Order: sequence, then C-alpha cells, then structure tokens
Amino acid sequence: MSAPSRSLFSAEHEAFRDTVRRFVAEELTPHHDAWESAQIVPREVWRRAGEVGLLCPNLPEAYGGLGADWLFNVVVIEELARAGVTGPGSGFMVHSEMVAPYILAWGSEDLKARWLPKMAAGEAIGALAMTEPGAGSDAKAIRTRAIRDGDAYVIDGQKTYISNGQNADVFVAACKTDPAAGARGVSLIAVDGHEPGVERGRNLRKIGLKAQDTSEIFFNGVRAPVADRLGEEGRGFSMMMTKLAQERLSQAVRSICVAEAVIDWTVDYTTERKAFDGTIADFQNTQFTVAQLSAETSALRVYTDWCIARFMRGDLTPVEAAKAKLLVTDLHCKVVDQCLQFFGGYGYMLEYPIARAYTDARITRIAGGATEVMKQIIARDLFPRQRAPQKA
Ligand SMILES: Cc1cc2nc3c(=O)[nH]c(=O)nc-3n(C[C@H](O)[C@H](O)[C@H](O)COP(=O)(O)OP(=O)(O)OC[C@H]3O[C@@H](n4cnc5c(N)ncnc54)[C@H](O)[C@@H]3O)c2cc1C
Repeated sequence: MSAPSRSLFSAEHEAFRDTVRRFVAEELTPHHDAWESAQIVPREVWRRAGEVGLLCPNLPEAYGGLGADWLFNVVVIEELARAGVTGPGSGFMVHSEMVAPYILAWGSEDLKARWLPKMAAGEAIGALAMTEPGAGSDAKAIRTRAIRDGDAYVIDGQKTYISNGQNADVFVAACKTDPAAGARGVSLIAVDGHEPGVERGRNLRKIGLKAQDTSEIFFNGVRAPVADRLGEEGRGFSMMMTKLAQERLSQAVRSICVAEAVIDWTVDYTTERKAFDGTIADFQNTQFTVAQLSAETSALRVYTDWCIARFMRGDLTPVEAAKAKLLVTDLHCKVVDQCLQFFGGYGYMLEYPIARAYTDARITRIAGGATEVMKQIIARDLFPRQRAPQKA
C-alpha cells in the first residue's frame, strides 16, 4: 500500500529490522501454529529472542540490553505485528514494554541487577499482575493485600488474565499496602514467581492470541522483601498512570502495522480471486472500501509516528497516548472486519492469516485500558472542572 513515508528510523534501525525480520521468518512463523495449539511459546524461543537482541533492546548495556534507543523496540513490535506472530508478539511486548520499564525506573539497584540482565537474555520472563476478577478498569479497587511483616511483605490475593502468567519468573504486582487508602494505598512489588505461595491457575482459553499464555495467578502468603517494592509505598497508582502511556503507544504501534498488513493482503488476494468473469478487486465496492480504510490508516500512521517521536523526546502525554490507543485500535478492528469480508469463506478459516488477525484484534479495545477508559482520560483533559463522566 502507498503508506506515508517515515523519517523516524536510521540505517542502524533498518539493519536491525532486517535481523528481526529474518528471525521472525525462520524461527517464529513456522512454529506459530504449534504454539497456538499448545497455548504457549516455549521458553527456548525466549532465549533465542534474547540472543538476537529482541527483548528489551533499549535497556542500558549495564543491565544486559543493547543500550539502544526505544526505536529498536518499535522495530521489534512492528515486525512481529506485520508477520501476525501474536504469541511472541504480545508476550514480548508485555515483557519489554510493561515489565522491564517499571523495574528499570523504580527498582533498587539489587533488583535491577537480579532481573534485568536475565530478562534481556530471555532467561527470565516478566509479567504484569494488575487485573483481578473484581477489578480491571477500576484499578484502585484491587483487593490483593501486601501487609508488612518485618523486612518483608506478605502478599495474598488473586490476579487474572495475566499475560505470560504460566511462563513468568517475575511479576510486577499491584497490591494494596494500605487497604483503607483507595488509590493512594496501591504499591507495586516485584514478586519472584518461584517463591512459595505463588500459584498458577488455568492457562485461559481465548478467542484470539492463542499462542500467548494468559493465566490466573494466586498469591497465597507470598513473602516479598520490602526492598523489592518499586518506588515509594502508596505510589503504585501514579506509577501505573505514567507507564501506561508507553503500553498504550506500543499497542497503537502494533495495531497500525496490522492494519497496514491486512490492507496489503486484501489488495493481493482480491486482485487474484476470480469471480463473475473478473476478480473481486474489479468491484467498485471492494476498491472504495479498501481506499477508505487505506486513507484512514495513512492518517493514523502519521499520528502514531508523531506520538513515537514525542515519546522519544520524553514529551508524550497520557492524553496523547490515550488518543492513539483509542483511534488506532478502533481502526485495527474495523480494517480486519471489513477486509475479512472480501476473503469470503476463506476469511472464516483459521488457517488463513486474515481469520487469525480478526480474532486477535478484538482484545486491543479491551486490554491496557478499554476504549471507554481512553475516552474518559481524554474527556477529563477537555473538561477539567466537570465530574468524571462515570455514568454516561
Ligand atoms: C488477553 C488478555 C490479556 C491481558 N493481559 C493482562 C496482563 O498482562 N496484566 C493485567 O494486569 N491485565 C491483563 N488483562 C486485563 C485487561 O487489562 C482488563 O481486561 C481490562 O483492563 C478491562 O478490565 P475488566 O476485564 O475487568 O473489565 P471491566 O473493568 O469490568 O470493564 C468492562 C467494560 O465496561 C466498560 N467500562 C469500564 N470502565 C468504564 C468507564 N470508566 N466508562 C465507561 N465504560 C467503562 C468498558 O466497555 C469495558 O470493556 C488482559 C486481558 C486479556 C483479555
């Protein structure tokens, strides 16, 4: 498709892109079906990805990373998204964009030295444990408690929908250290997944992202050193608000690539597929629908790249990130739905990438902050003196 030209990347980034693309083609794509059946990506794949530099590339070299800028992370997200390898695609993104950043920003030196080099090498896998059966969008309503006992917290509670949950070695867990204090009682604690009392529940069966393990996690009297708390006690909620912008931008980066890829597949398929003495692409309906989607995708590609540039300068605001996630994930779902139509019955068969892209897309409007939560963040900025539109 005639995408807008991009000026974000240097020759070094593009050389890295070639490496990632080769790795995806040789070591991820051929096995993805098997991982979907197994509902998990084997740990050995994480180690190989670590060797090639795909995990947390922007970590400083002192912590095992490449010491690269965040655009290297963007390259990884983009190449995995384009290839439709959503198992490692979403698992690596949680690990590199959601877990490592918390540890790097707020972990003690000891904690960083303990986990980050192993995470960059793919020897340790990270998971973010915020959501609970009774609290997702309303994160301050979590019930997992971390109660001080000497120099440790004792953690009790249940988490759910935790990406990488079966594989994870370290959880960044949101806990109430002061259950009476609402949002100001939330702290983030790095929990060693091999400590007694960390129990993994079911690997949940999902309509999409089938190769990614997503689990219930139980913390039953788990002892975590107080020194493994991230940042100050009671500051977890505001830390989450800061880092969620990176998560939301990463999701937009992923979604816009999928939209571009799906449009390309659709142009190729409809140009080949014969019907009524011509091809599916001969219908004006096909051309106009794809033209509209292509125009919208180009516009949001430009906005997404603008957000990436802002993030690189340290200027991206939570509202700008929320706008990116809101619009790009909406477009992602619209593109896969409208394009699937042109594949007819093939579009409904899971052996075709378009069918997988369709089932994989739906989560993007729910996880990492639902579409409505994005609107709420944007609305609060526009109407600072109004009450939050909770009941709208
Ligand atoms: C595949 C998958 C992977 C996930 N990975 C992780 C993970 O790694 N770590 C983790 O902690 N969590 C994870 N989650 C959880 C995810 O972030 C939550 O599902 C999401 O935040 C929504 O929370 P909820 O499911 O409790 O829905 P609820 O909070 O019950 O919301 C349900 C719906 O209500 C509406 N709604 C909610 N709030 C508002 C509002 N303020 N205004 C208007 N309408 C509203 C929205 O339509 C929303 O979709 C994952 C979920 C899935 C499905």
